[in-house]
Amino acid sequence: MSDVVRDTLARPLASLRISVTDRCNLRCRYCMPEDDYVWLPRTSILTFEEITRLVSVFAGQGVRKVRLTGGEPLLRHDLAKLVEMIARDPSIEDLAMTTNGLLLAKQAAALRAAGLERVTVSLDTLRAERMLAFAKSPRHADVLEGIAAAREAGFAKLKLNAVVIRGFNDDELADLIEFGRGHDAEVRFIEYMDVGGATRWSRDQVVSQQELLDVLARRYGAIEPIAGDGRAPAERFRLADGTTFGIIASVTAPFCRTCDRSRITADGTWFLCLYAGQGIDLREPLRRGASDDELASLIRETWQGRSDRGAEERLSVADRGALYRIDSLRADPHREMHTRGG
Ligand code: SAM
Repeated sequence: MSDVVRDTLARPLASLRISVTDRCNLRCRYCMPEDDYVWLPRTSILTFEEITRLVSVFAGQGVRKVRLTGGEPLLRHDLAKLVEMIARDPSIEDLAMTTNGLLLAKQAAALRAAGLERVTVSLDTLRAERMLAFAKSPRHADVLEGIAAAREAGFAKLKLNAVVIRGFNDDELADLIEFGRGHDAEVRFIEYMDVGGATRWSRDQVVSQQELLDVLARRYGAIEPIAGDGRAPAERFRLADGTTFGIIASVTAPFCRTCDRSRITADGTWFLCLYAGQGIDLREPLRRGASDDELASLIRETWQGRSDRGAEERLSVADRGALYRIDSLRADPHREMHTRGG
């Protein structure tokens, strides 16, 4: 086992998000607002064996946490098989998945049995008609069923992600907290980010961490911050009755200085930052027959040169607007949030 690999800001290579598909069965306004997209070519999509091999090489360089994402990860056929293959690696201490929950009810038990430890379900609204308008899907009940199935399957504490957008769901903060409380799940409010895909982003639609806390304090009284290890993206808080929740303040209080995360797209492109312009092609050496040592060197040397602070740099942009327009996303789908995985 090698020593911890650190980048130029002393951030360890520790956490990997793997997008297993760029396809999604929702069309959320803040991520995939168009009906159709330029998809990654099918032949470029990594096989389960290729993903598992990369995970093992990354684990040799210090990665301990893996999160499966997408697109919608449950659209990838036989995902439980991939979970089982990754879970066999004893170096991976935390194997999790982020899903929109539409297909979770059918798959939760098999995923848990295969070794998936934690699940985060995206739940932006409790109102079916809002989901229909905002994500172009009438399947709100399926998401709720998925959440129930995840609880029954026995995952470690369930998390619910809600991207808060002014004028869309900012009147549901307390409702979401209550829902989480009633379903033994922790809600994490996410500031609306100007990532690729969020082509309709504007600063005035972002509800800041401070504003979220002010609204919740008016309803619940004093809110106490919970000390963390500084590496998780969410800051956690506790209400007087003990209910906890998190806020991911990537827009107003970015956490680049402690970010140990990187992302692999479904076609094996490695991004060191959600905002990075370019990724590193790992599929080419993988398919050319590179040895584990060669891959490990490439990964280690690339990470040691990492200096990305994408969200902090965005903070200093005057007249901040959407990061990309739809034509530049079509020119390179790797810029899309649904390709990089959230
Ligand atoms: N399909 C899965 C899901 O919905 O959870 C996984 C992929 S999705 C890209 C991962 C996370 O990114 C979701 O929680 C989603 O809400 C979040 N996300 C997407 N676009 C975002 C944006 N513009 N700002 C903040 N979060 C965003």
